[in-house]
Amino acid sequence: VPLKPGRSLMDWIRLTKSGKDLTGLKGRLIEVTEEELAKHSKKDDCWICIRGLVYNVTSYMEYHPGGDDELMRAAGTDGTDLFDQVHRWVNYESMLKECLVGRMALKPVAATTETCCTLPEEKKLLNGMLPKNKVLDTSSKDLTPRETHAQLTLNVLLEVPHYDWFQTDHLVTVVIYTKQKGMNSEMVIVDHQDGRLRVDSILRDYSYLLHIELSYAVQEDIAVHIAEKVGKVEIVLKKKDNIPWSKLGQPLESHSSFIKCTDRGLCYRRCKLISKTEVTHDTKLFCLMLPRSTHLQVPVGHHVYLKQIIAGTEIVKPYTPVSCSLKSDFKEPSHHDSTHLILMIKIYPNGLFTPELDHLQIGDYISVSNSEGSFKKSQVQTLEDLFLLAAGTGFTPMVKLLNYVLTNVCSLRTVKLMFFNKTEDDILWRNQLEQLALKDKRFEVQFILSEPKKEGTGKQGKISSSLLSEFVKRSKKDSKILICVCGPAPFTEQGIQFLQDLGYSKEEVHSFTA
Ligand code: FAD
Ligand code: NAP
Repeated sequence: VPLKPGRSLMDWIRLTKSGKDLTGLKGRLIEVTEEELAKHSKKDDCWICIRGLVYNVTSYMEYHPGGDDELMRAAGTDGTDLFDQVHRWVNYESMLKECLVGRMALKPVAATTETCCTLPEEKKLLNGMLPKNKVLDTSSKDLTPRETHAQLTLNVLLEVPHYDWFQTDHLVTVVIYTKQKGMNSEMVIVDHQDGRLRVDSILRDYSYLLHIELSYAVQEDIAVHIAEKVGKVEIVLKKKDNIPWSKLGQPLESHSSFIKCTDRGLCYRRCKLISKTEVTHDTKLFCLMLPRSTHLQVPVGHHVYLKQIIAGTEIVKPYTPVSCSLKSDFKEPSHHDSTHLILMIKIYPNGLFTPELDHLQIGDYISVSNSEGSFKKSQVQTLEDLFLLAAGTGFTPMVKLLNYVLTNVCSLRTVKLMFFNKTEDDILWRNQLEQLALKDKRFEVQFILSEPKKEGTGKQGKISSSLLSEFVKRSKKDSKILICVCGPAPFTEQGIQFLQDLGYSKEEVHSFTA
């Protein structure tokens, strides 16, 4: 929502650094009972609990980008679920640290009789997946093959993912048995930093984490092999010293846990900026190189989060990686795609995050998270017509999507992009789009300008029902279609509403959001 002047995120950061007592407790931390929390549910006295910590957000009301009413939905209660639904990625710990009142008091709980034996029943109900919030931490203390054996047998019986390891003189191979058919390299994220190995395997909406402090040093480069049909993941590490390892290492936080992806915190690694090139007057292509010891491939339509410390506060914003160009000969991801991330970013002179990004020099580092997103390739697998509605940088998810469908979806007959911008100068990759339309007869692009400079340079207009009813037309009756929408939140919301009013079903419309 539009905020009053002087209420930007930067103004909030300034206020938090001013030394003002924002909790009303003069820096004291207290234990908060549910009854106490419920008492603070008014706009001029508002406390909210997130993940067991209670914040006094009264002063933050006017600075909340989503507005005070939105914040009031969680007033005096546990707002964790609401927070996770709207912006799980926002670093509230850093932004609200001066508002911290204390911790929720623990409630006495009745002793639970639940044991591992109850799992198979639940597992059946959830088609092999564990229920929300159920952490199956099956790690053994020191991870020697002998001691993990019993646990391993149990895991095999329960059909949850498990791992094993073996070695030769030079190599250590960690094997994860995910038991999921159709695993691919986008579903495995590996990091090796300071002797710590972290492997996150994404199995539908769940994450199986292997997190170990390795016993001995290994070389920087890692290799990841995936046997797609059986869902076996192999991570090959090169020993620095060719000595036998008696154990793989010590378990670290959340090792061997199997939980919902949305319950797993974001993991970051430092990436090096290796080039910055202009796309338009205000938009640049940032090429980031992943560390050699990281394996991360961002799926089509997914985004990552960048993190920077701005005025002493951690700020996180989402960005959608693109390919280096719109190629008509796009096949499998190239080597470059698995070692680099390319981001197309608009710099807002009055923005909080992007001017800082723009100040990064070649060779500087920035923190990049794992990827997230709800788009699935299966949505386009047997598609006949694809319609893309993009506004401004909302074009970014369309780039990989275009490359992917034009090369991989045999059933595809038409792909139409309607691209909304203010002026002609704002159109991203206009040349490439026009070239692609000339080269591939299935592809068509229309530019809609809200503030055209000259006469006759593209259609003038804004997103509307009449524009969409003209544009979204099936190539044949009953053809299988998908309409993808991305842009400023109100643009996307209007687009979805118009499409719904025109009779398109929920399955036929996908919007890219965080
Ligand atoms: P902000 O500080 O957010 O400000 C942006 C503009 O809005 C400025 O002009 C500012 O003056 C104005 N403004 C800020 N707050 C208000 C207010 N309350 N009222 C009125 N005006 C206000 N962007 C890209 O460029 N490329 C991408 O690939 C990309 N991918 C994204 C993927 C997802 C899933 C999402 C949700 C967003 C994505 N974005 C992308 C947007 C990106 O995350 C940032 O929002 C954007 O870069 C703005 O950052 P900023 O902090 O510099 O600007
Ligand atoms: P912009 O230049 O401000 O606007 C691009 C076009 O969208 C213009 O024609 C503009 O028309 C129109 N538009 C803007 N707001 C509108 C609204 N409320 N209703 C109807 N049309 C509207 O866009 P931008 O600065 O590049 O911003 C791109 C947005 O896309 C950002 O908000 C970003 O967060 C979002 N984004 C999302 C994702 C994702 O995956 N979710 C990815 C990338 C970008 P007017 O001239 O009338 O404003």
